Amino acid sequence: MSTARPVEAPARLITEADWSAALAALRDLPPDPTVLLVCHVNPDGDALGSMLGCGLGLVAYGVPVQATFPAPYGLAPPFDQLPGQELLIDPATAPVAPDLLICFDAASASRLGELADRLDTAGATIVVDHHASNTRFGGIHLVDPGAAATSVVVDGLLDRLGVPLDERIAECLYVALSTDTGSFKFDLTTPAVHELAARLLATGLRPAEISRRLFDSRPFGAMKLYGDVLARATLEPGAAGGRGLVWSYATLTDLDRHGQERHVLEGLIDAVRVAEEADVACVLKQVGTTEWTVSLRSKGGVDVGAVAVGLGGGGHRLAAGFTAYGSVDEVLAVIRSSL
Ligand code: AMP
Ligand code: MN
Ligand code: MN
Repeated sequence: MSTARPVEAPARLITEADWSAALAALRDLPPDPTVLLVCHVNPDGDALGSMLGCGLGLVAYGVPVQATFPAPYGLAPPFDQLPGQELLIDPATAPVAPDLLICFDAASASRLGELADRLDTAGATIVVDHHASNTRFGGIHLVDPGAAATSVVVDGLLDRLGVPLDERIAECLYVALSTDTGSFKFDLTTPAVHELAARLLATGLRPAEISRRLFDSRPFGAMKLYGDVLARATLEPGAAGGRGLVWSYATLTDLDRHGQERHVLEGLIDAVRVAEEADVACVLKQVGTTEWTVSLRSKGGVDVGAVAVGLGGGGHRLAAGFTAYGSVDEVLAVIRSSL
């Protein structure tokens, strides 16, 4: 079992040389450059918001960009209202050898799916991320594990480029920041995070509307589905070395029964992790007959990021995930023994 490290901001790992290299890569592009932005598969608010916000900023800077992410391609609620979607292209049509590749919120090359091959063919690569587990898989690294979201690093980049925040860039970065801080509730919600939020809001954003869309709104059928999943939740006080585990699962049949699509399950872990008797929360979301997407959360006692990495996934100390194969019982047995 992994025990928590003391709560402290990890060392900032972006050096002045890193920033200079990133600025030079953007300044020294050939005429009419091909610049491809990519973010991790099954993108969340931070992946999409950071990528599109940076993309809009780079266009304002004078660099044309295209943005994409690995298949399955397409935006579902609540991200289908993000500004900057005019920059998006289908990954099947993404340039094969861009002059510059910029990767967002991906801790490793594998998170880029079929687009990972561009790491070898691109003229230069900038990795923009905040995962402590980042494998530094590019050429230039803007990776800050002390940043609450990748969008914090994007703000630093746009600031150094001299690109002012407008309302569309700000909405993207705000969606990213509020997603990864759980609406300004998680560990890394520092004074600097609130200062960034203040600068974003000052562009004219409507935070109530954005927050409702992100956190407080789902179809009635999804609400009923959440009820079913919560009804079958299991509490194991002795698991995770006595710290306690609460878990549940959602099947494809559950989605069918309530006429819902997969994306409505993204918030399920937040409904399960409230159980105060358990430090660790786990939700299995069925993808295929024996394939599951697993979400793990800890309240501080267990490094679930290390657990997820050990099981082929990744994430942060208190929020992580991986893909698992087998029956619910088999997957749970593996998780229990890893905790
Ligand atoms: P989720 O439970 O899907 O919200 O994921 C929580 C966090 O875990 C994400 O922000 C990612 O950093 C990470 N994560 C989730 N799934 C994977 C995976 N299959 N591989 C690597 N990292 C993952
Ligand atoms: Mn992410
Ligand atoms: Mn992130």
